Amino acid sequence: MTNNKTYFVANWKMYGDLSSLKRLKRVIKLSNNRFYKNAEIVYCPPLTLIDKFVKITKKYKIHIGAQDCYSIRNYGPYTGNVSSDQIKKLGAKFVILGHSEKRKDGDTDVIINKKLISANLSNLKIILCIGESILQKKNNKTFQVIKKQIKNSLKNIKNFKNIIIAYEPIWAIGSGKTPTNISIEKITSKIKSFMRQNYNINSIKVLYGGSVNPQNILHLKKISNINGFLIGGASQNQNKFIDIIKKSIN
Ligand code: PGA
Repeated sequence: MTNNKTYFVANWKMYGDLSSLKRLKRVIKLSNNRFYKNAEIVYCPPLTLIDKFVKITKKYKIHIGAQDCYSIRNYGPYTGNVSSDQIKKLGAKFVILGHSEKRKDGDTDVIINKKLISANLSNLKIILCIGESILQKKNNKTFQVIKKQIKNSLKNIKNFKNIIIAYEPIWAIGSGKTPTNISIEKITSKIKSFMRQNYNINSIKVLYGGSVNPQNILHLKKISNINGFLIGGASQNQNKFIDIIKKSIN
């Protein structure tokens, strides 16, 4: 990991209800500990819990985010959708966009681009997920795929200060498998230089996501150029989530 702040983004997916709020207790306590002041903890619970999460974590160094937003920014006749402004007004600061589970649901690069423009205007910090399928990996297409995802998602974007990239190979999500450190490091460095060359951004943050857990974190933290982790399954268990943070920062 880089020496600066390390992101620990908890993606709770479609899990959790009001009874899950108690799972924040020990993480709140840890966030208060100065030893972990470089940990940027971000919880992305389901929309139904954002308001509660914002209220509970208000006084602490924990940020809240949504797992998606709609492509229209304010209000409108779009049944079932929630806009980036609505999310921002709830007190959330982050939004995950382009997660492979949303892509599977139908989110194309064009849709993700619209959502990204909207979230950017709402001044949300955006965690843009990109990553290849197992077939694309086998065909040595990983960077080609990622480059296209970045290019298409960032079309017409001028302000990059709120954008974080999460490299999440689809085949690593929830599978218990991870790429080798060398391969994550290589992709991350390619993403960073792509951003430098094409957008003149020197400080893009890149997270790794996909089966991060307390067993592999000591190994994954050795990747020199990543800025943190996007954690699904393991983040829903506070002991595991804390374990990951503690092992990363020591
Ligand atoms: P996982 O999920 O940690 O359970 O693999 C990661 C993600 O979907 O962001």
